[in-house]
Amino acid sequence: MYLGQPSGDQLRANREAYDALLADIGRFDWGRDEDYVHDFIDGLGGTHVAYLFECPRCGRQLVRWDAD
Ligand SMILES: [Zn+2]
Repeated sequence: MYLGQPSGDQLRANREAYDALLADIGRFDWGRDEDYVHDFIDGLGGTHVAYLFECPRCGRQLVRWDAD
């Protein structure tokens, strides 16, 4: 179930989704750079966006993201 495109602040207020995003970008070298990740989260909605989904069965949230 698609919930929309969360801003950085909305993601930070949603610990489960935020942790899911960090786990996802942690696959990349830059995703483990704290300063870069901070800027990445702040910049959501600009050149890159996050998509928030929720499983209709268990309520678990996951995040996908995309960059231009
Ligand atoms: Zn589920």
